[in-house]
Amino acid sequence: MTLRADYLIAGTGPSALMHYLHLKKMGRDVLLVGPDLYGHLKPVVYSEIGKQVNLLPIFPVIESELWRKLNEEEISENPLTLQKLNLNGAGRQQPKIQNCYYNYLLQNQQNSNVPYILSYKQFGDLIFEHQLFELQKKLNRNYNSGRPKFMKAGFVNGLSPYYRYLKIREPYPVINEPVQFIDYPNKALHTKTSTVRYNNLIYTMPLHHLFDVTRLKKSFELVSGDAKFLIFFSSKTLPENHLWYCCNIQSNIYRAFVPHKNMIVVQLSRKSWGVKPKMVGSELRNLLNLEGGLFHIDTKTFPGCYPLDVYGVNEKNELTDFLSSHNFYFSGRFAEWRYIDLHEVDFDQFTGTMKMAANSANK
Ligand SMILES: Cc1cc2nc3c(=O)[nH]c(=O)nc-3n(C[C@H](O)[C@H](O)[C@H](O)COP(=O)(O)OP(=O)(O)OC[C@H]3O[C@@H](n4cnc5c(N)ncnc54)[C@H](O)[C@@H]3O)c2cc1C
Repeated sequence: MTLRADYLIAGTGPSALMHYLHLKKMGRDVLLVGPDLYGHLKPVVYSEIGKQVNLLPIFPVIESELWRKLNEEEISENPLTLQKLNLNGAGRQQPKIQNCYYNYLLQNQQNSNVPYILSYKQFGDLIFEHQLFELQKKLNRNYNSGRPKFMKAGFVNGLSPYYRYLKIREPYPVINEPVQFIDYPNKALHTKTSTVRYNNLIYTMPLHHLFDVTRLKKSFELVSGDAKFLIFFSSKTLPENHLWYCCNIQSNIYRAFVPHKNMIVVQLSRKSWGVKPKMVGSELRNLLNLEGGLFHIDTKTFPGCYPLDVYGVNEKNELTDFLSSHNFYFSGRFAEWRYIDLHEVDFDQFTGTMKMAANSANK
């Protein structure tokens, strides 16, 4: 089957769906392709909870332009509450010989050990091995000495407000198959059963798939961080929308949050991925003074979910420019390979004149 679209969006995660709605509003002809509607924003259902919940904390930033756009209609503010525990933490080590993110922290976060402890717990030894420029930029943009600069909306009935916004706008015109090949010189994208001829392609899939689907030669290396979550059911009611960060460097728990009053999601410290859920459960009970039953119901691992750095940034920028001359544009956290949240994606860039300088990876 051969189809045509003025705008074709590769990927069906939240960036792709937001782009779709925006372009549609401007009267453009748009099609999406990908098997996994909602991407990282896809909810899960546990029989213990009995309803859909979002596991990943994809929280809108209340001060952002995107939130204001979404909030025109139905979403009420439901701000997340945040608490840091065990702030006494551990002392800092000596600077490392090689240039790395840890040295950057020593130079830029002199007043507190907390940014060091939390980034070590989140990313482990990566902070001593690489400069992690994307993480540096994220810290500069979003934090003041470890404190968030912006307020985040929490879960609404267990779901991210982004999901609620996108869900009620279904259905989306999706070819529900993985992208197999993008013939960018001829502006054609192939799946197993379909070919789509497009004028403009918005690529929101993870950047590391690009070389497989275009057969272009790999010209740079991506550095990423991973996440592992343990999900617990709590028989006792917990404070919904609360998020705890544990600042004790020895602890197995990096942070814990409550999407639903009977469910707590623990993001493990990078060094503690092998620790048994039972042990994490008892630590959690002590840390938060929890009473009542606490049962481990699931484990989820998210490889490559933090874009942290690129070796060969010039090559990456050259590739971005080269592909944009074929009307092939990168957009979203994983496609642009920038450590950004959803509200930092430029959703206006494709509705006016195609000004692709805005899309260059290291703005
Ligand atoms: C622990 C954690 C916390 C986070 N917290 C926040 C937060 O507070 N706020 C926030 O805004 N963001 C947060 N994020 C980031 C969040 O994941 C992104 O904002 C959001 O998912 C980005 O959407 P996206 O559409 O760009 O990418 P994704 O959600 O990854 O979507 C990419 C899509 O591409 C598809 N795809 C892959 N390969 C193919 C293929 N071959 N063919 C077709 N399709 C393909 C995937 O299936 C997926 O649907 C967090 C992430 C993590 C891991």
